[in-house]
Amino acid sequence: MRSTGSHRSHGKIGADAAVGPIQRSSGLAEEVYDAIFSQLMALRIAPGSRITVDNLVRELNVSQTPIREALGRLEGEGLVVKTHLVGYSAAPQITRRRFDELYELRLLLEPDATRRTAHRIDADGLAALRGTAGVMMQPDAADERARYSTFARQDAVFHDTILAIAGNELIRETLAHQHTHFHIFRLMFHTRVTEEALDEHDAILAAFENRDEQAAEQAMRRHIERSRDRLLPAFD
Ligand SMILES: [Zn+2]
Repeated sequence: MRSTGSHRSHGKIGADAAVGPIQRSSGLAEEVYDAIFSQLMALRIAPGSRITVDNLVRELNVSQTPIREALGRLEGEGLVVKTHLVGYSAAPQITRRRFDELYELRLLLEPDATRRTAHRIDADGLAALRGTAGVMMQPDAADERARYSTFARQDAVFHDTILAIAGNELIRETLAHQHTHFHIFRLMFHTRVTEEALDEHDAILAAFENRDEQAAEQAMRRHIERSRDRLLPAFD
């Protein structure tokens, strides 16, 4: 956290042990979540390593409450594991087998869904996707790790939006449940992973603009295959 001002703990002193709703309006919970998410994505918290609440309290200079909430949310996203009597740790890296299975699943579902999206997409959908792609392009040289974790999240949003427009909620839920993008971006921390994907997303957007179903399907297939090839060296 940048600020260590007392306003951050306002209303929270002594509240950690209390039973009750966690304050969500302050934005603090979101900020703490983002900070830990970013460390996990950029491998500053190594896969499999212990995460102690006390360390995070010191490092982020906030109370336990937002940290526990963030860790619970990250647990739901498969990035953090909570073990009885041991506590929290960063989820281990996905295995090569799991990686292959994830990409096989994506290649079965996403190109076909993308073809349907090209048929169904309207101006609002196109604007939403362009907006997401735009966030991914914004350079933030000041903090490469924050940029990387933002990219991972926006990539998840980009692909989820395409699936939402395609219209099959079960396919969308199935892929969302895998938290694919969080796991694959955590395999390595490298700017090449993000730069090449931008061009591939552009090709998908261009096909949507032209309502070209076949080009959209092909562009998504190529994007997923290239993404797989970019990340495979993580297993060497
Ligand atoms: Zn992508």
